[in-house]
Amino acid sequence: MRLQNKVALITGAGGGIGRETALLFAADTNAGPNEEVAAAVNAAGGNAIAVTADVSKAADCEAMIKAAEDKFGKLNILFNNAGISHADDDDAITTSEEVWDLTFQINVKGVFLGCKYGIPALRRAGGGSIINTASFVAIVGAATPQLAYTASKGAVLSMSRELSAIHAREGIRVNALCPGPLYTELLMKYLNTEEKRQRRLVHIPMGRFGQAKEIAYAALYLASDESSFVTGSEFLVDGGITAAYTTPL
Ligand code: NAD
Repeated sequence: MRLQNKVALITGAGGGIGRETALLFAADTNAGPNEEVAAAVNAAGGNAIAVTADVSKAADCEAMIKAAEDKFGKLNILFNNAGISHADDDDAITTSEEVWDLTFQINVKGVFLGCKYGIPALRRAGGGSIINTASFVAIVGAATPQLAYTASKGAVLSMSRELSAIHAREGIRVNALCPGPLYTELLMKYLNTEEKRQRRLVHIPMGRFGQAKEIAYAALYLASDESSFVTGSEFLVDGGITAAYTTPL
């Protein structure tokens, strides 16, 4: 029981990484996913409620933290995982201001607001673990242009570092989880032909996309006390993509 008696809030739990994490945490803890995922968590022996929130809205973030505390009495783990990759995100010339602003509203301000209302809750619980989903593109540029997304994930990574330093002595750990390219809807709706997928796979030493579940296992480690000396990290789970500029074929 790696998360016994702990309460976790996972944003973006309706699909992909968030859904898999909710299901993985289920045996051990309480979570806050959407209705269908909450039902699956409860069926698996966990104890979950669904909270609908737009993470870019302060009132929603305040309400989702309050819902977790009201229902379960405390909050120990905050997984700021919700994020978007906009279909019209491109290079500097082509990307519109609207796409840039929306991406930052959700990917960056969403993490900020989660922390703004979540950190006081973690304090009330005597400490805790925050996991912010960044991306491998926070460390290396993407081979196919998605400038707003890449910049937003860089912001999540640097925000996480500073948060980790500020809150370390009150027992709050903050880590940036940096997934590599995954076989989830978020990515596959762009890599929608075999040619595009192969173009990306060339860069991944393992020669395959990751699965959301493989990120969920990393989140479980960062959420649990097994990672009690891990804070401020850029926790890469990326099939080796950032370790090599090319791959032997
Ligand atoms: P996904 O699209 O399956 O899941 C993202 C979730 O966030 C969805 O449930 C969506 O409804 C939710 N969401 C979007 N906007 C929201 C908002 N304003 N408020 C609340 N929820 C919102 O994608 P995923 O692959 O599971 O992505 C999860 C995180 O992982 C994202 O932050 C993404 O940027 C990051 N990531 C994904 C990949 C990848 O290859 N899929 C790689 C690196 C990082």
